[in-house]
Amino acid sequence: MIIHSIQAAIGKTPLLKFTHQEFKEIPETSAIYAKLEYLNPGGSIKDRLGSYLLEEGFAQQKITNKTTIIEPTAGNTGIGLALAALGAGLQTIFVVPEKFSLEKQALMQALGAKIVHTPTEEGIQGAIRKAKELHQEMVDSYLPLQFENSANPAAYYHSLAPELVVDLGPKITSFVAGIGSGGTFSGVARYLLEQNSAIRLIGVEPEGSILNGGPSHSHEVEGIGVEFIPPFFAELPITEFATISDNAAFAMTRKLAKQHGLLVGSSSGAAMAAALVEIAKLPMGSQAVTIFPDAGDRYLSQAIYSREDY
Ligand code: PMP
Repeated sequence: MIIHSIQAAIGKTPLLKFTHQEFKEIPETSAIYAKLEYLNPGGSIKDRLGSYLLEEGFAQQKITNKTTIIEPTAGNTGIGLALAALGAGLQTIFVVPEKFSLEKQALMQALGAKIVHTPTEEGIQGAIRKAKELHQEMVDSYLPLQFENSANPAAYYHSLAPELVVDLGPKITSFVAGIGSGGTFSGVARYLLEQNSAIRLIGVEPEGSILNGGPSHSHEVEGIGVEFIPPFFAELPITEFATISDNAAFAMTRKLAKQHGLLVGSSSGAAMAAALVEIAKLPMGSQAVTIFPDAGDRYLSQAIYSREDY
């Protein structure tokens, strides 16, 4: 396959089938399919968002070839946007809460981005506030704001979700995926619902996220978990939220690496742990789809595959 830019390699990721042979929790004749989004060129699902946001920004004339892109991000969106911006010759500034993975920040910088830090205690809300301030101060800047921008779910509605239906047909029993901004979950869920109104929609969050009504506190799983309900969930008939402990997520992440050769991040471990609970509840012959959003090598400094406490 000859391509003319690395951005052309975004999307069309493989879908890995797991059966009873790999995981005894999966009933015979049922299957879990994991979309391997970590194989995108920037190492995450957010490559799709980065290129879609810039396409939309240009199409709606919010961006010219002199615009600086500013965004609050835990990291993967920054990498995805930096990759897309590089292709379009644009500058990027990302506002990142300090605690987030150093590797992700180094990758954003490698792609030419500038990073502005906000205090860890202020969470992603602090990063959003700071990014808004920077945007106000800078003439010809564009703030896509993934947490509010309907282009976020649209990116997945138009790219990832149709790929699932091409590979599996319309009869997917259950969609199980992690929630950070909620863009992936709601974009894919809406598309799959149009194909099968009986589909079960399972949102995955870490302990410390608020979707099941639990108290908000910090967690080690990175990339998922919310401090507020994503606006994209309005009118989405979500079946239930699965709250996964750090312990269960990291144990599954290690298992995926050691037994299956999948070098994914902890949000993939959380998603797989939830998908296994879900498939075990469903009748034989069911199909659950989940998503492995990013690669684990960006968490090596946090000892993702070796820590003893999880
Ligand atoms: N997993 C990881 C590793 C992520 O970085 C993100 C995005 N924050 C997600 C899952 C969740 O994606 P979304 O923002 O579309 O809900």
